[in-house]
Amino acid sequence: MIEVSKKCIGCSKCVPVCPFAAVSMSDKKAVMNEACTLCGACVQVCPVQAITITREEASARDLTGYKGVWVYVELSETDGGGAAKAGPRKIRKVVLELLSAGRRLADELGEDLCAVLLTDKNHSYEKELGPYGADKIYMVEHDELFEYNTDIFSTVIVSLVNRHKPSVILYGASIQGRDLAPRVASTLYVGLTADCTALAIKDGLLLQSRPAFGGNIMADILSPNSRPQMATVRPNVMKINEPVHGRSALVVRETAKLDRSLRRVKVLERSMAGDTGTVRIESADIIVSGGRGMKSKERFKQLEELSGLLGGVVGASRAAVDLGFKEKHHQVGQSGTTVSPKLYLAFGISGAVQHIVGMKASDVIVAVNKDPNAPIFNVARYGIVGDAHEIVPKLIEALKGK
Ligand code: FAD
Ligand code: SF4
Ligand code: SF4
Repeated sequence: MIEVSKKCIGCSKCVPVCPFAAVSMSDKKAVMNEACTLCGACVQVCPVQAITITREEASARDLTGYKGVWVYVELSETDGGGAAKAGPRKIRKVVLELLSAGRRLADELGEDLCAVLLTDKNHSYEKELGPYGADKIYMVEHDELFEYNTDIFSTVIVSLVNRHKPSVILYGASIQGRDLAPRVASTLYVGLTADCTALAIKDGLLLQSRPAFGGNIMADILSPNSRPQMATVRPNVMKINEPVHGRSALVVRETAKLDRSLRRVKVLERSMAGDTGTVRIESADIIVSGGRGMKSKERFKQLEELSGLLGGVVGASRAAVDLGFKEKHHQVGQSGTTVSPKLYLAFGISGAVQHIVGMKASDVIVAVNKDPNAPIFNVARYGIVGDAHEIVPKLIEALKGK
């Protein structure tokens, strides 16, 4: 329920920001009509906090009308080096991972898988989203959606949710997804499970699994009393299904009236942490990673030479990062980046659960460790019990053809 109190001073600021033309002025007071979706946009701009939205207790809601699994389609904002992207923005890889996971969930529920796309211009995105599993695409095209913005994007998503009532919404646990999903959750007054590493259906509910207590146990979370059930999912955890060429998705065009005054944050400049012009660790095909066993920053540099010869990128355990061998954005694991390269080489890494969770999806893992009982060997396809300081120079020599 939405109410305007006596505090209203008749400033009209809430009128243009409403995406659904649900506000008008009557006797110098704002009045909301039945088109209101409780998106909350007007509440944000009211200078005297005259507007209040009262939401039902989660347990009191009728959940039967909520159907369908939604995937938020994140588009790239920048190129690898951090500059604003020229040309059409691309669908980020995590979206394909979510569609693959979402397809499985939707099939099990017997419901539709829907992609939610917010963009200033559609560049035939449906041609990619359909083959990867989407049955339907809710598309909002508007000039104000030219780049991600928390206020604008959350307002649109909330309004779509109120209109179509999905049962599940999945977001990538990317910088954007980690910003957007909590905002949507708090506006809708529903829960959110962050950083999931596995999803399933249990008794018709979304079973959300994520590491807890420092990664030592997995917590299974259910949200029986609220809809939509929302989760962010770590990139590089879910395997991407083979696209079904020729499979198409129904495009449902949605309208939104977005006023510029909703945008409280303006992006002045972008800069990305990391080596400009090089492949970033999350998208690398080959990662040469080192841990505390590399012993020093100088010895760690040998891994850079090796990775250069293999055409890969250097990764590091948290211990190696803490010791200053490599910068934080190279860290693989629970509190670093989750990776899934074709080849992951681990030198002097013990294989703590917090490291494994970030690299176990790699196609081939090769581990070198002095300790034959190191847990890293449990996930490695090839294991070498030996001294990394002898093996790394030999590999470099071999690759140089000496
Ligand atoms: P160690 O565990 O000290 O292992 C060093 C290994 O090197 C040993 O197995 C040893 O046998 C081997 N070795 C020594 N000398 C040689 C040699 N000459 N040749 C070959 N092998 C040698 N860790 C991460 O990596 N990523 C994370 O994101 C992460 N997040 C965390 C989040 C939380 C909340 C917590 C509590 C911990 C996290 N950790 C993370 C830390 C994690 O628990 C481990 O402490 C860390 O991964 C250990 O790094 P390591 O394997 O390099 O060091
Ligand atoms: Fe306010 Fe949103 Fe309702 Fe419009 S739809 S009146 S902006 S809560
Ligand atoms: Fe009234 Fe607030 Fe709307 Fe201004 S923004 S008209 S004070 S409800």
